[in-house]
Amino acid sequence: MIFNEKMETMARDEIEALQIEGLRNTLRLIKESDSVLKKKYDGIEPGDIKSLDVLSNLPFTTKEDLRKAYPFSHIAADKKLWMRMHMSSGTTGTPIINVMTRSDLEQWGEIMARCYAASGVGPKDTVQITPSFGLFNGGFGFHYGAERIGAFILPIGAGRSRLQLKFINELGSTVLCAIASYPLRLIEVANEIGFDFRNSSLRVAILGAEVWSDEIRERIEKDMNVTTFDIIGMTETGGVGMGIDCEYKNGIHVWEDHYIVEIVNPYTGLPVDDGEEGELVVTTLSREGLPLIRYRTRDITRVVSRKRCQCGRTHIRIDRFKGRTDDMLKVKGVNFYPSQIESILMKYDTISPYFNIVLEKVKGKGDVTVIVERKNGVDSVDVEKMSNELYDFLGFHVRIQVVPEGTIERPAGKMVKVIDKRNK
Ligand code: ZN
Repeated sequence: MIFNEKMETMARDEIEALQIEGLRNTLRLIKESDSVLKKKYDGIEPGDIKSLDVLSNLPFTTKEDLRKAYPFSHIAADKKLWMRMHMSSGTTGTPIINVMTRSDLEQWGEIMARCYAASGVGPKDTVQITPSFGLFNGGFGFHYGAERIGAFILPIGAGRSRLQLKFINELGSTVLCAIASYPLRLIEVANEIGFDFRNSSLRVAILGAEVWSDEIRERIEKDMNVTTFDIIGMTETGGVGMGIDCEYKNGIHVWEDHYIVEIVNPYTGLPVDDGEEGELVVTTLSREGLPLIRYRTRDITRVVSRKRCQCGRTHIRIDRFKGRTDDMLKVKGVNFYPSQIESILMKYDTISPYFNIVLEKVKGKGDVTVIVERKNGVDSVDVEKMSNELYDFLGFHVRIQVVPEGTIERPAGKMVKVIDKRNK
């Protein structure tokens, strides 16, 4: 299913022509505003942008730039156009605010509607929205898109897992929208109360806002009896819906008439070749409140393809996120992401999906302890095999601690995978 045939299947040269125009417009909006970001573009005018090659010469915009501008100094649109704001979850330091105008809300609805269509969701569906409706952008984003495609919306918001299951059952939900790890909690509660997903009406789960490995994806699809879709987007770029993977699961389509994506080396900032891993950099082409040029997202991915997909869409495909530059761990000279450990652990069906990587300075015992939960009803976990597999990947030994299921805290929002005690 394609929501906007004309825009989603256009030829590459048409996409690029739109992107040049969009980039000029974004630059103009910033330069004509009172945003503190405009001084970055002294000496360059919208008319100077004649091809997309110019882009790599423009300066980056960083999270730090936006934090320093808190609350509103980075907002380009005139105050009288402001409709609402959302705020980055900001687990560390000052949060980042995005202010949305009417046009921004329209744009959000459009890209979210495309995401639903790519997931095969339409007017006959009942969509259960489980991210919160508040400063976090998730709830509203899923809501706007579902309104646009004409689905029946259950705007439930976060938490209350038993109630969520009751509604799936009694109200006949066919689509679940959630933070990626939330289905794991629902599966757990379902097991506790004897809820059987095989007899439920649920068929699709649209999940995002977290890095979730292919192995976790398999568990969710199997245990919930659904097809999952990986959706991306963040507060700064205008919320959830910047892109999603389609039924062919061969990369995440990013809506290129609204965003330009680049992949750069996170250390040098230089563009990398297609296929090579690096940091995702996003330029917005149709946002008014916070137009962004070359925003460093810190998400690690790669370009999968710029060719037409089997689904008919021509928009670029990037890989599912592997991690974030700031959650890369460095131990004994080895760099790795929590998602890579997750991929190894989740091959063991004797353990629950909840685990912790604890980093500490313990003499003689190694610096890393991996805590895993033995599933209820399971006699033992093959710790030796797990330990060897982790050693093969990391090149150093880690300690594995097995605890009973339910020991690790189930957070209300995003999953906590790493506990760093090294500087404490
Ligand atoms: Zn596709």
